Amino acid sequence: MNYVWKKKGSFRTDIADNVGLTEASVSRIVSELRSEGVLSEKRQPAEYPGGPSAILTLSKNRYLGALEVSSNRVHAGVATLAGDRVFSERFDLKDGASAEAVSQVIGTAVAALADCAERSRLQLHLVGVSVPGYDPRRAANPIVMLNPSETLERLDASFPGVPVEIANSIVARAINQRLTLGTAGVSDDYLYVFAGHGVAAALVSEFWGNGEVTTCEIGHMVMDPKGPQCRCGHFGCLEAYLSTSAIAPRLKIDEVELLALGDAWPQRVPISEKTGADLNARLSRLGMAIGNALNLVRTRRVFLGGWPANLGEAGRASILAGIDSCLLGGAGSVVLNFVQSELGSEPAAALSLATFGYLKRGAQPAQEEENVLAQAGTESMNP
Ligand SMILES: [Zn+2]
Repeated sequence: MNYVWKKKGSFRTDIADNVGLTEASVSRIVSELRSEGVLSEKRQPAEYPGGPSAILTLSKNRYLGALEVSSNRVHAGVATLAGDRVFSERFDLKDGASAEAVSQVIGTAVAALADCAERSRLQLHLVGVSVPGYDPRRAANPIVMLNPSETLERLDASFPGVPVEIANSIVARAINQRLTLGTAGVSDDYLYVFAGHGVAAALVSEFWGNGEVTTCEIGHMVMDPKGPQCRCGHFGCLEAYLSTSAIAPRLKIDEVELLALGDAWPQRVPISEKTGADLNARLSRLGMAIGNALNLVRTRRVFLGGWPANLGEAGRASILAGIDSCLLGGAGSVVLNFVQSELGSEPAAALSLATFGYLKRGAQPAQEEENVLAQAGTESMNP
């Protein structure tokens, strides 16, 4: 299913060739998933004569919900398992909002989801929640004052028995980004880095295309203990050089304004020669952090998203110089790919997180549906 998802539709023979199963096994699994309504198959001849005549896609009759929290807004959305969006709405959230204010916005967003499900009579099969700064091991979130257990209780009250997948934003971003890579080079792990309001990174495992994402705290890698203070309390963290709050004053622009421009701000904000040199020095620090991170793992593939992807060749050269100065053996073996993220596509990442979580659970029907079926069975036995 993961393969069909990444490929956005696939022929049976293609699945057998790429996931290490015989055609007979693929046929058996496909017919099970079709009868469960998770996969659908429609006629679409292959592009070569004598090829397969039907393509498999994920179902358009299963629905997933999403809540995507960012530093200054919350997006709620619903899409089919096949990825067609049926609902999305945006709710403003003040940067640095109090716990009460965050709780209120989350309540409104959950109510909007519930309203959409009721209005369109949709059964959600899973809700994905992506939250910046979320870490299940930490009681308090340093970025958004969101209470995870309260959020889970709220979702459970509106969607009883529907599983919820809650994860750090970088996990959701990495899963969403992975979709755009298609199925080429599925056996290679890579490091995914995103620079925006903060700086975050994750290692994506492609062992048999499983796509497991492990977060790493690259933003709080200390680059210089005598450097500027970071919001975490330490000095000289990577974020203290690269976050939007560190950069906005250099560009003589308000941070809120900078955030509103999205990752494409380097194309919209005038950058003087002096500021350009300052930004490139910061990007070189980003390269150093990436180089140090690569010293710990085997992969040499890096995907970098966020504003650094929009600073062109000079920016790339600065990042590679930074990597080169820290990575054993230099940057020669590193493949650095810039990734464009689309502003306004929210909650695409949380919806991808939901799809990933749903497929990981074996595309099981939600508990409530099972209960309803069980009750219907009891009723018919006792008329
Ligand atoms: Zn820090």
